[in-house]
Amino acid sequence: MRVLIMCDMEGVSGIVVWDQVNGGAPMYEEGRRLYTEEINAAVRGAKAAGATEIVVVDCHGAGKDWNFNSLVPELLDGACEWVSHHAWGRYTEMFETGCDVALMVAMHAMAGTPDGVLCHTISTTTWRNLYINETVVGEFGINCALCGHFGVPIALITGDEAVCREGRALLGENLRAVAVKRGLTRSSAPARTPGRTAGPGPGVGLPGGFPAAAPSG
Ligand SMILES: [Zn+2]
Repeated sequence: MRVLIMCDMEGVSGIVVWDQVNGGAPMYEEGRRLYTEEINAAVRGAKAAGATEIVVVDCHGAGKDWNFNSLVPELLDGACEWVSHHAWGRYTEMFETGCDVALMVAMHAMAGTPDGVLCHTISTTTWRNLYINETVVGEFGINCALCGHFGVPIALITGDEAVCREGRALLGENLRAVAVKRGLTRSSAPARTPGRTAGPGPGVGLPGGFPAAAPSG
């Protein structure tokens, strides 16, 4: 089983402000460690479910040379390979060579979501709404369209409660959704501790046997 993990940084438990996700900011170093360990939980979950190949794609634009390059390589689980520095939404190699399932880890809600922690769509300043056909979508929906184009099912979404709700509204209630925090505002949230979201063990809510939901887009 070949598993693709698409990940973003804003949906990580404990990340609630921009300085945790912007390269060069003092709090960024803490953010990228939290990010990497949460990705490791998904890698362990995929491994426990029988994955033979796991590719992690960093989809977070942290600015400058940190763009799509926020994971801490030496902390990453050795069971995965990771793609860094590749422009967002444009990594298709694994889709083209055969991918069995995709996991969406640490997603954030679309722009304008009242309880969406660090919610935005593509850019915080230049995009308000994005539509695919008649459906307004966020970045998760765009990822779904990409997966759907190649016929790859999405088995998991993690992030705050808002993006889990958004994911299920798009793909259906069978989508396994794991909320690691609950937005009070766009920049505050009660959250599960890293010990619960990122290990040890296969990760909270990431057991073997993913119930896959087919993307609609
Ligand atoms: Zn991001």
